[in-house]
Amino acid sequence: MHLPLPHSRRHRARQIPFAPEWREILRADMFHWALLDEQERSTMEDLIRLLLVDKRWEAARGFELTEEIKLLISAEAALLILSLEYDYYRPVSSIIVHPTTAVIRGPKSSGIRGVVTDAPMPVLGEAIQNGPVLIAWDAARREARHPERGHNVVYHEFAHKLDMAGGGIDGTPPLPDRTLRRRWVEVCTREYEAVRQGRSGHLLDPYAGINPGEFFAVATEVFFDRPMDMEHSKPDLYGVLRGFYRQDPAARERRARSEGLLTGPSGHVRRTPRHLHPEPPHHGPST
Ligand SMILES: [Zn+2]
Repeated sequence: MHLPLPHSRRHRARQIPFAPEWREILRADMFHWALLDEQERSTMEDLIRLLLVDKRWEAARGFELTEEIKLLISAEAALLILSLEYDYYRPVSSIIVHPTTAVIRGPKSSGIRGVVTDAPMPVLGEAIQNGPVLIAWDAARREARHPERGHNVVYHEFAHKLDMAGGGIDGTPPLPDRTLRRRWVEVCTREYEAVRQGRSGHLLDPYAGINPGEFFAVATEVFFDRPMDMEHSKPDLYGVLRGFYRQDPAARERRARSEGLLTGPSGHVRRTPRHLHPEPPHHGPST
């Protein structure tokens, strides 16, 4: 799909020691960190270092990037490609972090096909084709600690990047074979229509009904954040996402529960609708 990352960059990333304090930060900030096994954590550490070295990190004016910010966002982005190729993120030119909800200005789509607006638009994140990913840090930090709410702006925006790697934003990332692709289209079309018709239940945010691209991004959030709930209530959707991501987060959660790492019921939290993530402006124009 893309040329492999230059050897020197990978080499440089591996030269950075993964400091014990970084693991402490991730243990404290990222709920999912504790659920990973040794091998997965080791892969995550490689991916995190690559993202730290390979991407340009920028802060909104007046905001300062800390080690914690870069680490947590890298780790969450890394989780999505834990069993995929790093090169999926090759088109991410930079990662721009805002302290909180950002306001996007300038002409953009109103969310209604063909209608353009100049109105300022508050967003939690944005993923621009062949361009940067924008993340609101307060949301990223909050959501990393509370997967039970099923929202995660980093998973959401980087899922858009995976989608774009398959060409355009159509809710279909690059799939490994025709069988999975056929199944993907069949299952996702059915579930997307269910959301649009208001008969999907509460697991997926209604925002998923905006377009197939948003459907994939929202489904990705729930796949990683509430995997057992998704496996239980939407097994087909869970199955195609597991096929793409080549991960089984529900099995991970079950193992963590059996080992006593997780307590409390799963999926008892009623999700609140997302208001600050309009589409498509938060993707911005293609560049
Ligand atoms: Zn989106």
